[in-house]
Order: sequence, then C-alpha cells, then structure tokens
Amino acid sequence: MNVNKSAPSEIIWPRWPMVDQHKFESSMNKVFESQRWALSGYWTGQPSLEQQFAKSFSEFNGVPYCVPTTNGSSALLIALEALGIGIGDEVILPAMTWMAPATAVLNVNAKPILADVLDDTLCIDPEYIEQKITDKTKGIIAVHLYGSLANMDRIMEIADRYKLFVIEDCAQSHGSIWKGKRVGSIGHIGTYSFQQGKVLTSGEGGAAITSDKNIFKRLEQLRSDSRTLSADGIRLGDMELIEEGSIQGSNFCLSEFQASLLHMQLDDLDELNNQKTQNALLLSDLLNEVNGIQVMRQDKRVDRQTYYGYAFRYDHEYACGVLSEEFASHLQKELNMGSFYLHACYQPIHKNKLFCPWTKKRYDPDNAMNKDYWHSLHLPVSEAAANNTIVIHHAILHATKSQIEHIAYSVDKVLKRIRHKKRCFNS
Ligand SMILES: *Cc1c(COP(=O)(O)O)cnc(C)c1O
Repeated sequence: MNVNKSAPSEIIWPRWPMVDQHKFESSMNKVFESQRWALSGYWTGQPSLEQQFAKSFSEFNGVPYCVPTTNGSSALLIALEALGIGIGDEVILPAMTWMAPATAVLNVNAKPILADVLDDTLCIDPEYIEQKITDKTKGIIAVHLYGSLANMDRIMEIADRYKLFVIEDCAQSHGSIWKGKRVGSIGHIGTYSFQQGKVLTSGEGGAAITSDKNIFKRLEQLRSDSRTLSADGIRLGDMELIEEGSIQGSNFCLSEFQASLLHMQLDDLDELNNQKTQNALLLSDLLNEVNGIQVMRQDKRVDRQTYYGYAFRYDHEYACGVLSEEFASHLQKELNMGSFYLHACYQPIHKNKLFCPWTKKRYDPDNAMNKDYWHSLHLPVSEAAANNTIVIHHAILHATKSQIEHIAYSVDKVLKRIRHKKRCFNS
C-alpha cells in the first residue's frame, strides 16, 4: 500500500481530554464566584450551572428537557425507572456493549434480554429484537456503539407495534444525527455519559434527555431525592430544590464544577466531531486498502457520525486465528499507544467477566443468579466481533494526516508480521 512509512521515531499522539487550560480555569472560577457548588445549594440570583448546561444540552439535541446525572449508568437507571420499568419486566438490549445498560436493568430488578448485533455496525439487530419480544417485554435499549448508529427507523417501528419504550444509550454518540434528528431525541429517553473518555467529558457525569414532560418530571425527582426545582417566588439564600415526593428518588446530581466544564465545552463539540470525522474517513480509505481489514459500514441515513471509538475488523483466518487482545497488544507496541487509546472491542455481556450478577444478593434471583443461564447464551455475531475487532480512541482522530497514515501502515505491518510468524497460509 502507498502510505508514509517514515513515521517519527517518537510519535506524540493527541491526548484526552483536550481542554484549553485557560478555559478550564475560567469554568472553575465561575463556580467559585457563584458560591454554589451543587444543585442542593441555595439560590444565588442566577440559574445554577447545572440548569444552564441542561438548557444548552437539550437545545443542542433538539428536545425540551434534559436532566444531568452523576454518570451514564445513573442516567440509564433513572430512565428505566421514569418509564415505570421494574420487577417482572424484560428489557431487550444488545450483547455487544459496555455492561452499564444491562447492569441498569438488573438494578431496577428487571431482566436484561440480550440480543445479537449486526455484523457491519455492531449495533442491535432489529430482527433479533422481534424474536425476543414476550408479554413481559417493556422496553428496548438501543446502544449507538463506537460511533455506529442503531437502526432507529426499524427500532421505533417495532416499539410502536408492540407498545414498548425505547431508551437510546448515547454514551458513545454525542452529537450524531440520524435522518436529521440528533440521537437521543428519537426514542422516549436518550442517555449520555460524560466520563473521562467520552467525546464530551467532565471526568464523571451523565444526562437523560426527553421530549415528554411527564417523563421529565419523574426523571427530575429520581435524580434529586424526590425533589424538583422551584418555579418562581424564590428568594436569595433559599433552597432551589423543593420537596415534591411524587416518586421515590435518590441522589444522582451532577455538581456545579462538572456542569460548568461541560457547558464550556459544548460550543466546540460539533467542530471537534467534524475534525474527527475527516480523519476517520481518511483512516477508513487507507484501511480499506489493507489486505484482511474491514471497516465499519455507515448507514445512508446517518447524517452525522460521532466517533467515540473508531472500530475496524480483521479477517480472523487471514490473521491465523490471532485474537483481538493479542492483535491489539502488537499494535499498541508498534504505535506506542496505551490501552486507553487502542484496545480490543468489548467482550459481549454474557462473556464479559465484569458481568457477574450472581455475586449480588440484592438482585431478583430469577433475573440474575443463574450463572448457567448467562453462560449458555450464544450470540454468534457479537462473539465473533469480540474476537476480531480493534477500537482506536477518538482522541487519536485529532492526529496529523501523516500520523493517521502511519496507523494504517502499522496495521498492515502487524498483520503481515503475524502471518509471517504463524505461517497459517498455504502459498
Ligand atoms: C460509558 C458508557 C456507559 C456508562 O457511562 P458511565 O458514565 O461510565 O456510567 C453506558 N453505556 C455505554 C455504551 C458506554 O460507553
């Protein structure tokens, strides 16, 4: 292949987060000056930074309501509760994902039903959803994974037909657009994570967005101990949270420090996402030229794709059966990249050692305790993907053109070296 082989000996890769120090400090100063560090602080005469961020983030996504949370996992949890999902219910979600959505379903004492994914997007397979619907099914969690978008047309069609709720897990897709609509605004609730690695980050953090006022009212109380924000008549020094108590909540509030950081970065999000897209397209063009490599398919209905992780796959046989963990470790060495920046894709939930609900006594035994049930599941597309998919963190998509070329060159080099060492081919 025709790419730049003379990469610098000590490559400096972009790092994440990429926040300007001056902006960072001024966002912290805002909190200092306000004297309000939390939603549960007192009214200072100004809307809290949490509310300022919520307003901007809902406008960004084209919905009227946003409820910030401590993290993406708690956003999923309150989303399920706001939709009234609990004991005896089933929720269908993809096996190929970070475990948080499955854990959230267990945490409301409902049962996660794992579905397989599509081979070329790694997002939930709508046909599989239909096969798994029972009279206990209450909802679907669609995860937009590694920048690919789930087929929201089909998912909403199925949900309408069977009267199911749809939660879009957008922890990896802030700003993506499906047929003119931001992800998260298509289902009943969209949830976000602002954890350190995500494209919009405050270290930890999350949010749930919705267009439904009643759902919003429940989300609000679920995240702040059954309290809502007072409308008017508030005086300086008063609590802004008022005791509503129409649904039992917990404390999942985002602090003012985090809200300020997020608010400050929101203006740049689309622009940064565009830069990533340019390099992702370049990387896909280059990787398409490499023997044995397959890049992800982008659905024609995707108007804008956010890359949280850039995923590509290799032909398992062509690579002499080498598993993704090993392939990734060769590539990490070759590129001098840490495992935060380049790694194998997730193991599917039922194969992921971090998913071990039978160790937790508070779960409904019928849902969680049967280790054999989880291990008996067979979801071939997810399982195959786990073995031959490599993920590059989106920070790397802010690299220079020659660095991107060096990545493609190195993938080719590592693949050839593996083949040379293992000698699994006949010619
Ligand atoms: C990161 C992530 C989450 C969880 O977010 P946290 O903020 O870490 O709790 C949920 N779903 C997906 C797909 C994620 O990538």
